[in-house]
Amino acid sequence: MPFSALGISTHLIKGLEKLKYLKPYPIQEKAIPAILARKDVLGIAQTGSGKTASYVLPVLQNLKGKTATKNRHINVLVLVPTRELAAQVEEVFRTFGAFSPFHVKSLAVFGGVSINPQMQALQNVNILVATPGRLIELAKSNALHLDSISTLVLDEADKMLNLGFKDEMDEIFAMLPAKRQNLLFSATLSPDVQNVERLLLNKPEVFNIVPKETNIELIQQTAYTVADDKKGPLLRYLIKTKEMKQVLVFASSRYQADLIADKLGKNGVNARSIHSKKSQGYRKETLTNFKAGNLPVLVTTDLLSRGIDIEFLPFVINYELPRSPKDFVHRIGRTGRAENPGTAFTFVNEEAQHHFSVIQKKMKKQVEMVDASDIDLHGF
Ligand code: AMP
Repeated sequence: MPFSALGISTHLIKGLEKLKYLKPYPIQEKAIPAILARKDVLGIAQTGSGKTASYVLPVLQNLKGKTATKNRHINVLVLVPTRELAAQVEEVFRTFGAFSPFHVKSLAVFGGVSINPQMQALQNVNILVATPGRLIELAKSNALHLDSISTLVLDEADKMLNLGFKDEMDEIFAMLPAKRQNLLFSATLSPDVQNVERLLLNKPEVFNIVPKETNIELIQQTAYTVADDKKGPLLRYLIKTKEMKQVLVFASSRYQADLIADKLGKNGVNARSIHSKKSQGYRKETLTNFKAGNLPVLVTTDLLSRGIDIEFLPFVINYELPRSPKDFVHRIGRTGRAENPGTAFTFVNEEAQHHFSVIQKKMKKQVEMVDASDIDLHGF
């Protein structure tokens, strides 16, 4: 089914053609007509399913020249859990918004950076992508008014609740006009999400997009049993011998992420680390460089295991295991997405062996194990 059959306008179809979105993904097929019809929607869809475009396109189309009557009165509010996702979603609005025949000015706002430039940038904005805390600050200082909002989107609602945004979300809901369209997206339908669903949505259309089983099958996995003091050499060995040009390395803590990136740098490998303690500017610049292929190695914590879309990421390395098997799948899911094959390597020290067998059981996949002491790591 082509996008035009879903009701997408010829203007936006030009944007789709430019981005080479040839046909809609399942969540787009379902959500686009319902959102165009101004229904409330609950979409259970993972990152990588194409959920962002599934609301960005119809929301843009529904604007139909509607600009908030007064300055600083936005029409569309998208709430997201992290700064990175805010920037990423806003970019999708900007990309497609350029093809809209109507006034579209989008902006991403989030904490951790100075509020004044955001206050100024809010002039004439009609689509705002925000993290909850900063949104409240802006609304309370009258830099922004929420009473003209016609559409509210909650993206990665499950993650927002995990991160403890519930009170802030309630505070925001209380500021919104009662009559509005509500769109809720979540990777899981946890009890918390169901509570928000009951509170927020009015006779929603519910779409549960089950991720293709083959997703995990697409990922080539190898695990190495390796002592802690050999992890560094093994990492450099893999980066060099596999000629990795773009690899995301996961560490268990911010401290470890910094240490791994430093060590790589000292050994002549261009690497950087990002995590929640790095400044927003640094995170953005580093992620942009990595996505553009100008930085071969990015070391991070589970901050990035969900929500961030990097196209065609060929390699993921688990330097340490995450606590939860779900996080493991999210991490390796950064590769092998959108039907591109990818490779994931996992380092398992002696202590982690039992935990790794639990992960494999949960993932329903046995991973090939290689003993790193059989590899000649001299010189790495
Ligand atoms: P998302 O789940 O929104 O993070 O999207 C995952 C990736 O799929 C992004 O890189 C999108 O640009 C891409 N994408 C979304 N929809 C389509 C489509 N219909 N055809 C091709 N690529 C798409």
